Amino acid sequence: MKKATQQQIKEHNRNLVLKTLLEHDTISRADIARSTRLTRTTVSDIVNDLIEEGLIEERGIGSSSGGKSPILLGVMEDSRYLIGLDLAQNQFSGAIVNLGGEIRETVNLPVNDVDGQTALGLVYEILDRLMDSEIRPLVGIGVGTPGLVNTSSGVVVNAVNLDWKDLPLASLLEARYRIPVRVLNDSQAAAMGEYTYGAGRDQDTNLIVVNARHGIGAGVLIDGRLFQGDGGGAGEIGHVVVVPEGGIQCRCGNYGCLETVASAQAIVNRARSLAADTTETLLPKDQRAISLDAIVDAFSAGDPLATQVVLAAGRYMGLALSSLVGILNIHNIVLTGELTRFGVPWLEAIQASMSRSTLFGLAEATRVSIGELHGNAILLGASALIWTNYSMLFNQ
Ligand SMILES: [Zn+2]
Repeated sequence: MKKATQQQIKEHNRNLVLKTLLEHDTISRADIARSTRLTRTTVSDIVNDLIEEGLIEERGIGSSSGGKSPILLGVMEDSRYLIGLDLAQNQFSGAIVNLGGEIRETVNLPVNDVDGQTALGLVYEILDRLMDSEIRPLVGIGVGTPGLVNTSSGVVVNAVNLDWKDLPLASLLEARYRIPVRVLNDSQAAAMGEYTYGAGRDQDTNLIVVNARHGIGAGVLIDGRLFQGDGGGAGEIGHVVVVPEGGIQCRCGNYGCLETVASAQAIVNRARSLAADTTETLLPKDQRAISLDAIVDAFSAGDPLATQVVLAAGRYMGLALSSLVGILNIHNIVLTGELTRFGVPWLEAIQASMSRSTLFGLAEATRVSIGELHGNAILLGASALIWTNYSMLFNQ
């Protein structure tokens, strides 16, 4: 192993201290030393530097366990800002977010059947507007995009809906805006968001976040770090085959993928085809008027057809999750995305089917819940890129 240089050690220690500070509202120097196992002198030096950088401040006095009461420190959450982008199916959203995960400004643009160049143009338009904001300093951009992403090179390898193939998105944006850019798959960004600011906060360091909307994907955190797999595609459960025989063809070319039976699109398609032969339903007579919104309304009103379609989708989702739980034995699963609008009954269908298909003890210990960030998991997760790269906070 290469020996770390003095500079690298210094940076590593500083990042450790900063991470500890970001995880606490307030904390004393002594407690930072305890939790990082750095010496008190090292912690004091780093803390002085961080105060000088304007990143943290002294914030009152803590309670004493004998001896002098300690001074508490806290991160100045509005001392730096990040930009997060969510390139979803029907709408691109961008937001300026502070270091505490609070959204300060947003820009949304509708997206309809775009080609690759137009999609990139919309990304520029959102970022141009956010970069024009008075909110300063903006230290980095995080992008959550559908598709397969090489996070280390910032290249979108393949995003079918956006018509992007081998697009060097990070370099393009860095050249245009002159700040660091990171690109993540949208489900992995959602996982970062829930882990950092939402349902995974204060929980175990292992977490699976399933993003269920037009497509289905999962982000997996192991020991607090995003696990991306060898090719960046870890958690691509949308294309696991759950209908082995007679399944519908998927946009990936295969048959019977999870997305063909459990995604928002699959639910809409199924409801449309069943509604054609059913008179007793609250769903609109005109098939084209059967949208996800219409199904959510009918489902909440107890419509049998909507209930049948949604719960069947939930059961397939549970089946796919059982294989993830069987492999990873992670106890905490969080669901995000549009389909969470179907709430507890959908969640229970997932849970029941997962339990049936998993070793009893494993399923018993697994907790499935709905995310806490509503529509903002991807935006916030993309902006949480500082959690993997603190150095961008220091290039002011
Ligand atoms: Zn597929």
